[in-house]
Amino acid sequence: MVNIITGCDAQKLKIYSAKDLDSLPQTRQLSGARKAEMKAVASVLPFRVNNYVVENLIDWKEVPDDPIFQLTFPQPGMLEPDSLKRMLQLTNSGAGDNEIMAAAREIQLSLNPHPAGQKQLNVPKFKGESLDGMQHKYRETVLFFPSAGQTCFSYCTYCFRWPQFVGMDELKFASKQAATLVEYLKNHKEVKSVLFTGGDPLIMKTVLLRTYIEPLLTPELEHVTSIRIGTKAPAFWPYRFVTDDDSDDLMRLFEQVKQSGRNLALMAHYSHPRFLETDIAENAIKRIQSSGATIRCQSPVVRHVNDNAKVWSDLWSREVKLGAIPYYMFVERDTGARRYFEIPLEQCLAIFNAAYKTVSGLGRTVRGPSMSCTPGKVMIDAISEVAGEKVFVLKFIQARDPAWVNQVFFAKYDPHATWLNHLEPALGKSKFFFEEQMASMLKAS
Ligand SMILES: *Cc1c(COP(=O)(O)O)cnc(C)c1O
Ligand code: SF4
Repeated sequence: MVNIITGCDAQKLKIYSAKDLDSLPQTRQLSGARKAEMKAVASVLPFRVNNYVVENLIDWKEVPDDPIFQLTFPQPGMLEPDSLKRMLQLTNSGAGDNEIMAAAREIQLSLNPHPAGQKQLNVPKFKGESLDGMQHKYRETVLFFPSAGQTCFSYCTYCFRWPQFVGMDELKFASKQAATLVEYLKNHKEVKSVLFTGGDPLIMKTVLLRTYIEPLLTPELEHVTSIRIGTKAPAFWPYRFVTDDDSDDLMRLFEQVKQSGRNLALMAHYSHPRFLETDIAENAIKRIQSSGATIRCQSPVVRHVNDNAKVWSDLWSREVKLGAIPYYMFVERDTGARRYFEIPLEQCLAIFNAAYKTVSGLGRTVRGPSMSCTPGKVMIDAISEVAGEKVFVLKFIQARDPAWVNQVFFAKYDPHATWLNHLEPALGKSKFFFEEQMASMLKAS
């Protein structure tokens, strides 16, 4: 069916997972050995892709180096050689599901499934009860994980939320409690923004999404001035906004948020300019914008996918051209297949700076490269020399204690460091300025 407004053809979503690796026509060109490795990796890490990604985004002539293939399909390098060998032996020898799952779970547990104190620290309490589908880490913003939004249109191989997708999260941040969210917010007038996240909340049908969003539009919550939706649907399944059965209804919901006097922002995950090159992707952006919603763009910088300045320069330029706002460049988190994807902080900064120089001020709304760590979002601002010592200049752009925000601090320059925990205080200090306070926060929780 052709959408009357945009002229785009509708597509029916088809989801592919590990069991489809053999039958997909596009993967026929891969060797049997490669496919066996992919299956072994997929038994440990999540794999999910859809027909739009396979047919329109991956350039199969460039496989395995194609960035979108690297971003969505399991790669042998994602497991340590020993782990890969072990899983290959099991899957090749026809081991039973239980044996495979037990081995996979062992490897999963070795991959730091819960970085940045997500589980212990950020779950808020209300009337003595833990509110499992929520995180309240930064004063102004509550994260909400609707239980029905905990999957995605495709999975990113580098995603830090992977434990949710392989079913190992007892917490699963699940919550059907829109009412609880409203009660919590009524009692927390400091909250200005509610950020729906997942997974991908837009995997939900509009009717379901509406049950979460509508209750927030009440005048009693007028202190909540913005609602955000963290999503990769504009990249992985732009039909969601244009031709899907309930896309008109979704636009109406977005309009309703605007009409309530609030800002609706899509925090869109675009990790490569190719996601902005198809007609349907451009049309999705236009439709979202015509509802009055704004689009802000964020992504990690990862090896094999977007680890060069040209890609980022193209990405930000294209976003600006389409009226979407570059927002964050993240450093790949310390979890999962991070060894395959991680890039030294020094190189992240070099990529950021080289790309930042090429865009106009409209593209310089982007901040980063930023690490989402237990104390907050820490940006690598520069490499410099202070009092004769080569240092990383770091800065909190978000912090567990608002007093830390925008504070600059220094770490010893280290060309191999890929995360905050690799860094040591510079200038003869034994601790970073926030560490003692952070330790007492951890103790109190
Ligand atoms: C990034 C993030 C937010 C949103 O932060 P902004 O700087 O307002 O975009 C909220 N909560 C958590 C836990 C985050 O990591
Ligand atoms: S779309 Fe977002 S939540 Fe889903 S796998 Fe990718 S990064 Fe993770």
